[in-house]
Amino acid sequence: MKNISIAIDGPAAAGKSTIAKRVAAILGFVYIDTGAMYRAFTWAVMQAGLNPEDEAASCTLIGKLKIDLLENGTVLCNGTDVTRAIREPAVSSNVSYIASYKNIRLELVEMQRALAESKSVVMDGRDIGTYVLPNAEVKIYQIASVECRAKRRYKENQEKGIPTTMEEVIADVKKRDYIDSHRDFAPLRQAEDAIPLDTSEMDIDEVVDAVLKIVKEKTGVEGCR
Ligand code: C5P
Repeated sequence: MKNISIAIDGPAAAGKSTIAKRVAAILGFVYIDTGAMYRAFTWAVMQAGLNPEDEAASCTLIGKLKIDLLENGTVLCNGTDVTRAIREPAVSSNVSYIASYKNIRLELVEMQRALAESKSVVMDGRDIGTYVLPNAEVKIYQIASVECRAKRRYKENQEKGIPTTMEEVIADVKKRDYIDSHRDFAPLRQAEDAIPLDTSEMDIDEVVDAVLKIVKEKTGVEGCR
């Protein structure tokens, strides 16, 4: 069977990773969390004592980081397990600066394309359908209201033991969306051929079903739950 790529883009905390992970498991595809790569890069910049708002300083780490996404969800940066650390509020509030630097994006996009080359994948991010995998067979643009996204992310943080207030989560989501959609290179936007999916009033199973239906229509591939 020919390899198939499913691109799921959308604003911060729209539930993309939850859906992408489940759809990948159902279809037997590999899930690739591109946000985790930008987060790991940000973690490394901060760990090195550099200022993420300083592009030249941050770019000195290009070529020096080996970022691995393991199948069980573990994220390694030069061998260190950063799975939890990259979800901390300090990383969240700086990641959009790092993601706005073209040379850092070029390096991470190259890794992302290499990961998708020989396998069927579900890849989530901001620029997958527009830039990373423009020929993806299926493109979904997943959105939800800011309130709904903040509520979901707040609950997720609580479950993971990451201390945040609702106000902080709302501010973080709005700040990242603004920077992500206003950067010059590969900004967050819906690809012309992407199918928009507003999940504000949907639960996880309903969103997964909607995505599987689109995948079946576009590719003929069916998953069994
Ligand atoms: O997906 P997640 O919210 O974890 O992504 C963290 C950040 O990484 C985003 O806010 C965005 O700045 C950046 N990102 C990106 N392009 C991607 C994936 C993530 O710019 N493909």
